[in-house]
Amino acid sequence: MSPDELAPELNRLRGAGLYRRRRVLGSPQQPHCLVDGRPVLSFCSNDYLGLANHPDVIAALRRGAERWGVGSGAAHLVNGHNAPHQALEQELADFTGRPRALLFSTGYMANLGVISALAGRGDAVCEDRLNHASLLDGALLSRANLRRYPHGDEAALARLAVESPPRLIASDGVFSMDGDLAPLAALARVAHATGAWLLVDDAHGLGVLGREGRGTLDHLGLDPEEVPILTGTLGKAFGTFGAFVAGSEELIETLIQRARSYIYTTASPPALAEATRTSLAIARREEWRRERLRALVARLRAGATQLGLPLADSETPIQPLMAGTAVQALAWSQTLEAAGILVTPIRPPTVPEGTARLRITLSAAHQEADVDRLLDALATLPRQEAT
Ligand code: PMP
Repeated sequence: MSPDELAPELNRLRGAGLYRRRRVLGSPQQPHCLVDGRPVLSFCSNDYLGLANHPDVIAALRRGAERWGVGSGAAHLVNGHNAPHQALEQELADFTGRPRALLFSTGYMANLGVISALAGRGDAVCEDRLNHASLLDGALLSRANLRRYPHGDEAALARLAVESPPRLIASDGVFSMDGDLAPLAALARVAHATGAWLLVDDAHGLGVLGREGRGTLDHLGLDPEEVPILTGTLGKAFGTFGAFVAGSEELIETLIQRARSYIYTTASPPALAEATRTSLAIARREEWRRERLRALVARLRAGATQLGLPLADSETPIQPLMAGTAVQALAWSQTLEAAGILVTPIRPPTVPEGTARLRITLSAAHQEADVDRLLDALATLPRQEAT
């Protein structure tokens, strides 16, 4: 875009209800927080287990900074790979039941790194149409031929895969904006039949689903061998920051040699790895957090059914309320905000045109009374305009 085009384009976004603005959080991440100076009850964080502000995690970060300093000082392959990074990688490998895990600074970088390390020009990469942007961007960056199949449509994937056998198939485990689960067993069958890698990004399943929070694969009863590449993020259920890829010895060694978003960036602070080691242990141990989440999800869904609210079909803490147009989603969000409840609207291009929504998310840190307050506020939304 030329300099002259910026202002008109920003005006166009404003007019279409697509303008995005940041709010300033004046408190730690927690359900009752201060936003732009006002107390609000928030239902849009990915802090599913309520660990972002946990005293033990804070203490681990503080101790880590005292022991290891703040900056890592260099990339992992130079001299930024500290003992806490190494220990966390081993704990993540154990957690995911895989030989190795590799830390990345963010989930976005993990997906870019792994896809572009394994696929290249002339390869086909098949992805669910609703995959997270980082999976789609990874395929674009790799210069492979990106082929998208309709959401969750295993038959369409199978047809694509017969037409041109893919190098790699990638899917969210829990879809980030919809909360539903990918048909992983079917994806694994197609991958196996065509000799493709299967990559599952379980950013929203790890910590939340499965035994000890082992994620969507465990929840659906899949073995690690059926899904050879697993990416996970640490800034959601684990309450800290960063991400990892878990897989075989050879896969991880290949990523260390080839994944540019791993090689050419500064390692994250070692103290952060210490904080994540603590939050991972809490997430595995404290089953009550997942039980509470399930109870809150059930309470919200039962209340929404009574109110006749069209929540999307999801069993996870991501509970989208479909609005249709961006303008409608924005208006709903503003109505809720006036009642002291924060649910940011999710609009195109994050979601397809015509499917703007309120992405309601629950956390184990919410109380039942919080969910009831949300339901009371949802009951006041003008619904005749909904599509
Ligand atoms: N994958 C999915 C499915 C996500 O929802 C997100 C974050 N919203 C990411 C990857 C990116 O992770 P990060 O925020 O650590 O970059």
